Amino acid sequence: MNRSSNIIDCKSNCFLTLLLNILTINFIHLQPLFKVTYKLYKMSNITFTMIKPDAVRNGHIGAILNKMNEGGFKIVAMKYTRLSKEKAGEFYEVHKERPFYGELVDFMSSGPIVAAVLQKDNAVEDFRTLIGATNPAEAAEGTIRALYATSIGENAVHGADSDENALREANFHFSGTEMFM
Ligand code: GDP
Repeated sequence: MNRSSNIIDCKSNCFLTLLLNILTINFIHLQPLFKVTYKLYKMSNITFTMIKPDAVRNGHIGAILNKMNEGGFKIVAMKYTRLSKEKAGEFYEVHKERPFYGELVDFMSSGPIVAAVLQKDNAVEDFRTLIGATNPAEAAEGTIRALYATSIGENAVHGADSDENALREANFHFSGTEMFM
């Protein structure tokens, strides 16, 4: 092989090595961005729910889970548990100044609940539609609250009201290894 073809080989090898280095460095730098984008994408696909103590006491767990399945929600985390007064107070801290806060904390810690993370496109909004208005007297026909809630306080189910809260509430109840997205 003559000298000029050796130089060409060396040049193309150098070019490929350089290109590979640039791609690797860019990938390493872009990785956190990919992770954040992926997390944001996942966030808008999940919601957090609790089947409240009244619905558990009245034997509606099965029927409510069935409504969630029929509504196209996939359960990616679930547990049967009971909130202490302290934990219920912490969970509903945003309502601390409202007149019903004490009643709400007493009720939410009065018996077992089912906590779950649900996955679906547009999960938060679609789930709020599925559960209906806070006050069952105003909830649309066929919604979970219209069917299974008894009063504005004891209204059968909780549904997160934003993507940010869904994530915060999911992390409040579940560790990373307990969610299967
Ligand atoms: P949600 O997002 O539809 O659950 O409604 P809110 O965020 O306004 O209230 C949180 C929870 O507080 C409700 O789901 C009810 O359990 C309870 N709650 C809301 N309004 C009242 C009320 O006027 N009286 C009582 N006792 N409880 C209430």
